[in-house]
Amino acid sequence: MNVKQVFIATKNQGKVNEFAAFFENKGITVKSLSDLDEDIDVIEDGTTFEENAIKKAETIGKRINQAVISDDSGLEVDALGGKPGIYSARFAGNEKDDHANNEKLLHELKGLPEEERQARFVCVLAVYIPGKQTKTVRGTCEGMIAKEFSGDHGFGYDPIFYLPHSNKTMAQLEKQEKNKISHRANALNILTHQWDEWIES
Ligand code: IMP
Repeated sequence: MNVKQVFIATKNQGKVNEFAAFFENKGITVKSLSDLDEDIDVIEDGTTFEENAIKKAETIGKRINQAVISDDSGLEVDALGGKPGIYSARFAGNEKDDHANNEKLLHELKGLPEEERQARFVCVLAVYIPGKQTKTVRGTCEGMIAKEFSGDHGFGYDPIFYLPHSNKTMAQLEKQEKNKISHRANALNILTHQWDEWIES
């Protein structure tokens, strides 16, 4: 199949740029939801990252009859049985307040020793191509929940997500460094290896 254009199911220009770099040498044009005339609402009511990403990609893809890639991401904390998971954005309430989410997480892990603070960022990408079965890839980034905030780059849980290999939190990394090791980068990397095979199949 000859895919010439892909819609990324986001209005976040930072994410769009990451995908544009990935598709640059494949001769595929990258568009985003900002290029559409209508707002397509998708209620993320799945129970897994995969379900939410697939629903987003398929709802939008079927409406515009074009190839769509969506992503769903979040943070899994082992000591909380994988929470906040798909509820990461709203962990502390509907306001999607990053600082409040971080405070709540630190509070819930209060007193927990270092060796029990393992966590990972997860990013699932779903690829919808008209007439094909939707596929997903999952990228992760392993780390630990720090005991306090450090750094002011990034967003979300970055200030309390500690990377033992770098001895820094994600928020202490420069953007380019984060983009090399992040869950989104890892998912994109996996997609790179599978894309041609998927398109041909
Ligand atoms: P989204 O699926 O990209 O909207 O991410 C959902 C939520 O997961 C965000 O609101 C953040 O709380 C968290 N999250 C996802 N990716 C990251 C990241 O790279 N750094 C920090 N938090 C993240």
